[in-house]
Amino acid sequence: MTYEVTLITGDGIGPEIANATRSCIDATGVDINWHIKEAGIDIYNECGDPLPKDVIDSIRKTKVAIKAPITTPVGKGFRSVNVRLRKELDLYACLRPCKSYQGVNSRYDDIDLVIVRENTEDLYAGIEFEEGKKETSDLIEKIHSLTGNKIAMDSGISIKPISIRRSERIVRFAFDYALENARKKVTAIHKANIMKYSDGLFLSVARRVAEEYPEVEFEDYIVDNMCMQLVQKPHLYDVLVLPNLYGDILSDLCAGLVGGLGVAPGGNIGKDMAVFEATHGSAPKYAKKNVANPTALILSGVMMLHHLGEKEAADKLEKAVASVIAKKKDVTFDLKEDRNDPTAVGTQEMAQAIIKRMR
Ligand code: NAD
Repeated sequence: MTYEVTLITGDGIGPEIANATRSCIDATGVDINWHIKEAGIDIYNECGDPLPKDVIDSIRKTKVAIKAPITTPVGKGFRSVNVRLRKELDLYACLRPCKSYQGVNSRYDDIDLVIVRENTEDLYAGIEFEEGKKETSDLIEKIHSLTGNKIAMDSGISIKPISIRRSERIVRFAFDYALENARKKVTAIHKANIMKYSDGLFLSVARRVAEEYPEVEFEDYIVDNMCMQLVQKPHLYDVLVLPNLYGDILSDLCAGLVGGLGVAPGGNIGKDMAVFEATHGSAPKYAKKNVANPTALILSGVMMLHHLGEKEAADKLEKAVASVIAKKKDVTFDLKEDRNDPTAVGTQEMAQAIIKRMR
């Protein structure tokens, strides 16, 4: 069977790790017809849109994509392509496994956590009012008249919507994932003590959905406490389900627990489409140097192979990655004991070592 898959090459280190990942996936023997598409800062400079329509059209057609990272300018410029993609395709669940691999330098060596992050609402939805604009002062006055709260007139405002339907589907996704993958516990994370109507709603929905899954243990934690618990006792947790912004932050925290962003894969999953991508960004300082670690995107490829139903190929590729990392020889600088180790290999060379292991 030939699968149609969209490959978005991204910017920064994106094109290099996308190339490495494609070679590794092809080497599993799974037959993929790649639809290669460009998105990000380079194509923005060329045509004024960092996410051209043909990229979205391609994913709608193929239903499956793997995407290399894309830069989001800070404070100005275009809005995040990643957020747009997730919203336009309604890829509501962000799945981020954080798993220890032998050989990766990290504080803990036997972690196996899964983050399930809501992807479409919350403060992350991009509903914002710029300081100094008329609509912002109108909103400030409206809030004053409705609630009596006085917001400083020189404020910028970001809106945090959290809905029953979207909370319900993400919590359900987390429980279904737990059941399908023999996981024992789901932990919901929130700040419901302070944000009673947004996080409070998320928590009450989570509690209600949890009752439908008596075979999976359920608990909830306030986000600040959870950060401390994860740093001190990460083994106590299994599947974590979070609203968008906390999910974003705790994904990096958990990636840090297993050795950093270089080994943290992810997938954005909707009802009938999925886009797989690493947790890390475009690391512009390493762009075009053939030094970036391709592991996180290759492991995202492993997730994609599972999604396609190619379990054997997925296991073969994951084993090859694990074995190359464990040997610590043909790995990029960040996976060496000393980051200045001159024996570190480049992005493409590490991919070749992984391919060799699969033969
Ligand atoms: P980043 O993940 O790019 O980098 C964080 C740190 O990790 C840096 O020191 C970086 O050099 C290092 N790093 C990341 N990936 C690496 C790899 N594969 N190999 C070796 N080192 C690696 O995060 P940032 O610096 O906050 O963001 C850079 C850009 O990426 C920003 O424009 C941001 O918006 C964007 N971003 C995109 C995505 C995405 O495409 N999904 C995700 C996060 C950030």
